[in-house]
Amino acid sequence: MDPLVYGVIVIGSGPAGLTAAVYSGRALLKTLVVAGAVPGGQLMLTTEVENFPGFEQPILGPQLIERMRKQAERFGAEFIQDDAREVDFKSPPFKVKTSSEAYEANAVIIATGASAKWIGLQSETRLRGRGVSSCATCDGFFFRGKDTVTVGGGDVALEDTIFLTSFVNHATIVHRRDKLRASEILQERAFENPKISFVWDSIVEDILGGQKVEGVRVRNVKTGKQEVIKCDGVFVAIGHQPNTAIFQGQIELDEKGYVITRHATATSVGGVFAAGDVRDFHYRQAVTAAGDGCRAALDVRDYLETKGLRVT
Ligand code: NAP
Repeated sequence: MDPLVYGVIVIGSGPAGLTAAVYSGRALLKTLVVAGAVPGGQLMLTTEVENFPGFEQPILGPQLIERMRKQAERFGAEFIQDDAREVDFKSPPFKVKTSSEAYEANAVIIATGASAKWIGLQSETRLRGRGVSSCATCDGFFFRGKDTVTVGGGDVALEDTIFLTSFVNHATIVHRRDKLRASEILQERAFENPKISFVWDSIVEDILGGQKVEGVRVRNVKTGKQEVIKCDGVFVAIGHQPNTAIFQGQIELDEKGYVITRHATATSVGGVFAAGDVRDFHYRQAVTAAGDGCRAALDVRDYLETKGLRVT
């Protein structure tokens, strides 16, 4: 069977992919969103979103995604609820295969996002959204006057914890070594901050609490000594993993696997663009991802116009 040909295929259905689909649809481009077997991205794991402009009252992450999807569908975007398993970007039309179909398009937008790394504890999964979070910018506000624990010793762990101190009573950073990975300047700021204390050479062995977080049990990896730290929130900041495995060898990725973009959202392959957390490890917000999706769609439109390749 001949593959189905589109103007643009968007891979991923978080805010970046869905915004790209809204803009591509409105540009009257035949648009397919390969949304993933579990669509919606990281917002699907979020409870209340209070910082997406336009919503005076909090909106649940999954509801926000649902609205974006309906908006994209209104402009004609088609959706496939399956993972992209394989891509071929050697020459246009580009090929994207799912488990059951092959699709082709003159342009592709990669918006597969990144996944927060988790410690891997059962209690961590159970209490996610009930005090366990991977996004201080999103959830810090809910911990006003409370105590939190951050896990990790990199830039994000420190930056997030410094940010948290505008809300919390006290923030403890639990790091598995006695030396931080974070930049000197952030270390200096964290050490000077009276609301931050450190627990060194320690790992979180369990997160305590039934319906919500009540504390963590940590173990010192050098002495074996265990202690319980009471807290209301646990911020896991041990890095993110970009979802780029299927793009290895097809486009340029950096050493951590993030898509390298040159000017705006263009990747190393003409006609293939990237938007959102898959290329941006710094801002990682729903609104910045959405903005990036818009840019990618406009870049696609310009590319297709220039090449005379529009499929409407
Ligand atoms: P990162 O630099 O990879 O740091 C991850 C931290 O988590 C490390 O301290 C690591 O410990 C710890 N860790 C990893 N796996 C762990 C586990 N299973 N259990 C406990 N601890 C674990 O990641 P990031 O902080 O998310 O930063 C990502 C990138 O963004 C980095 O390149 C960073 O420099 C950059 N960034 C820069 C800025 C800035 O310049 N202002 C701000 C934010 C992010 P070890 O140290 O022992 O490996």
